[in-house]
Amino acid sequence: MRSIYDMSYEQMEDWARSKGWKPFRVQQIFSWLYKERVDNFDAMTNLSKETREELKKDFTFNPLTLVRKQVSSDGTTKFLFRTEDGALLESVMMIFDYGRSICVSSQVGCNMGCKFCASGLTKKQRDLTSGEILGQLMAVQKELDKEGKDERISHIVVMGTGEPFDNYDNVMNFVKTANHDRGLAIGSRHITISTSGIAPKIREFAKGQYQYNLAISLHAPNDKLRSQLMPINQAYPLKELFAAVDEYSRLNNRKLTFEYILLKGVNDSDENARELARLLKGYTCYVNLIPYNAVDEHGFKSTTRAEAMRFYDILKKAGVQVTIRKEHGSDIDAACGQLRIKEMKKEKAAKEKMKKEKALPAPQPRLELPEGSTAATSVIHKTKEGTH
Ligand code: SAH
Ligand code: SF4
Repeated sequence: MRSIYDMSYEQMEDWARSKGWKPFRVQQIFSWLYKERVDNFDAMTNLSKETREELKKDFTFNPLTLVRKQVSSDGTTKFLFRTEDGALLESVMMIFDYGRSICVSSQVGCNMGCKFCASGLTKKQRDLTSGEILGQLMAVQKELDKEGKDERISHIVVMGTGEPFDNYDNVMNFVKTANHDRGLAIGSRHITISTSGIAPKIREFAKGQYQYNLAISLHAPNDKLRSQLMPINQAYPLKELFAAVDEYSRLNNRKLTFEYILLKGVNDSDENARELARLLKGYTCYVNLIPYNAVDEHGFKSTTRAEAMRFYDILKKAGVQVTIRKEHGSDIDAACGQLRIKEMKKEKAAKEKMKKEKALPAPQPRLELPEGSTAATSVIHKTKEGTH
C-alpha cells in the first residue's frame, strides 16, 4: 500500500476526484498532514468517519520507523530509520544560524561506487519512494514538534545516501510536496539537490527551469583523477558533464555549486587548485570545499586545515567564489552513510551468531524427576508453566 506522503497535491486531487470528493477535501487533508502534522488519519477530526476509512483503505502513514537517534555536541542529529521491508537508511539534521537543515537519503545504498564514500560501500538495494524521502523529513520535524519549541526545518539538502538523479522522478515528487504552499512550503531556494554528474538528468533538470539549487560533486579537476575517484566519470567525462552544465546555465539564471572533497595527497595540490580554477573559468558558480570525513574501509585522509586554506587561497586569487564547509557533528559518525553501515554490520553479526547457535545441537533440558513420575508427565507439566 502507498504512503499518503507519496502523493503530491495534484496526485491527491486526482485521487479525490476518482472518489467523487470535492477539491476542498484535499486542502483539508494536506493541512492535517503538513500544517498540523498529525500522524494518523483519525486525528483528522473535520473529516467524516467514512472519509477517514476511505483514506485508510488506500494509504498508510509514515512508511519509516525510527531506529536510533545520535545527537552531537553541536546539536547535529543523525536519525537511523527502517523501511517497511526492513532496509536501513539515515538522515541528518544540522543547525545553522539561518535555520535547521535536513540532509535526506534518496536510495538504499548507491550504485555509483565513489571510492571515498561510505554509501558507495553497498550496492543500491532499491530507490526510495517519494513518501520514504518525505517520511524522513516528517519524522524529524515531528521529533522537533515533540520538543515543543516551534522549530521548523527550513532547508533541505538531498545529499544523503544515494544518487538523486538515479531516482529522478521520486526525488522530484518529494521536493514538490516539500516546496508546495499547501505542503511544507519550504522555499525552493532553500532546497538543494546534489548529483555526482549524471549528464542526461542534469539536462532534464535544466529544462524544468526549477528554482531549486543544483550542486555537482566534482572532486577532481581532470578526467584521469576524477575517473579514479568516481566511476561515473567514465560514463560522463568532464566534457559531457560540462556540456550539460552549459545547458543548465543557458536555461537557468541560477548559480551552481561545485562540491570538492579535499583528500590528502590525492586531489589537494596547488596544481590541482590551479587546474580547478581554469576548469571553472567563466562559470557563475561557487566551489564548496568539503573536509573529508574518514571512512575506515577506504583509507583516504582529510587534508589539514592549513593545506585546505592554501587550496582556498589559490582559488580565491584566481577569482573563484569559494567556501570551506563547516564541519558538523564530527563527534558522531558524521560521514553520511556511516551510521547505516555500522548498524548493518551489527545486524549481520547478530544474524550470524544466531545461525551458529542454531547449527549447534540444542542443549537437552536436564529434568529433575520427582520420585515416581515419568519424564513425559514432567515435560507436559513444565510446558504448561510456559518453560518451552
Ligand atoms: N550522490 C550525490 C549526493 C549524495 S553524496 C552526490 O554524490 O553528489 C553528497 C556529498 O557528500 C557529495 O558531494 C559526496 O561526494 C560527499 N561525500 C561522500 N562521502 C563523504 C565523506 N566521507 N566525507 C565528506 N563528504 C562526503
Ligand atoms: Fe553515491 Fe554520492 Fe556516495 Fe558517490 S558520493 S557513492 S554518488 S552517494
